[in-house]
Amino acid sequence: MAQGRRPLIAGNWKMNGLWDDGVERAETLMRLMQDAEAAQGPLPFDLLLCPPATLIGVVHFTLANTSITVGGQDCHTKASGAHTGDVSASMLKDLDCTHVIVGHSERRADHAESDAVVEAKAQAAVAAGLCAIVCVGETEAQRDAGRTAEIVARQVKGSIPTGANSQNLVVAYEPVWAIGTGKTPTAPEVQEVHALIRARLADLIGAAEAAKTRILYGGSVKPSNAKELLALPDVDGALVGGASLVAGDFWAIAAASTA
Ligand code: PEP
Repeated sequence: MAQGRRPLIAGNWKMNGLWDDGVERAETLMRLMQDAEAAQGPLPFDLLLCPPATLIGVVHFTLANTSITVGGQDCHTKASGAHTGDVSASMLKDLDCTHVIVGHSERRADHAESDAVVEAKAQAAVAAGLCAIVCVGETEAQRDAGRTAEIVARQVKGSIPTGANSQNLVVAYEPVWAIGTGKTPTAPEVQEVHALIRARLADLIGAAEAAKTRILYGGSVKPSNAKELLALPDVDGALVGGASLVAGDFWAIAAASTA
């Protein structure tokens, strides 16, 4: 973590949880945060929860008196219209969301989302006043073929919207093979890819903005590996899937960002 970039720890609950689960998880996290703030004062990191769309309202309501923000897991490229089942960025903004994840590998795979679609979604997010968390990452086959740098650079170039800056953009490096598998790249491998992402961002949005843009690592982040990963110079936080479903684990990961 470099000076000047405040860690962001984001939880992606994916398609998990009913009303009571969401409330209980949010309340537990809130208590952990309040206890820590009572002991240490204001915390030096940002916390974001991205619940399923059905739970955004109640999680936001539960966390109303805290600094924990909520975000969406996806948005449509259009602001409104005949798109049954979809949610627009302005609808997320209307629920007080601050961020939306776009281009998660599960959406790239399950919904055949191309870089162009991801860019359009990120553009819609920015237009609605949200910060877009743009996910990139190579598959296991691409890694084994030595193509990680090429794939990640191509995704960054193809998925970052025009007008992006350090306030409306976060990039998440999520190797597909590390998501939900318990496997992670080594710390030097993570740092190498994050430095590459920052260099490509400098080409796209300028060196000054790239230096301020947060780049998260995601893929099997747990309390046991968080400290090492979050200490890397170009890792500015984490996008956490499975471990974000357990409030104590998510909190431990966040606390490791400043350990
Ligand atoms: C994710 O899906 O964004 C993710 C990082 O999942 P996990 O932490 O479970 O690997």
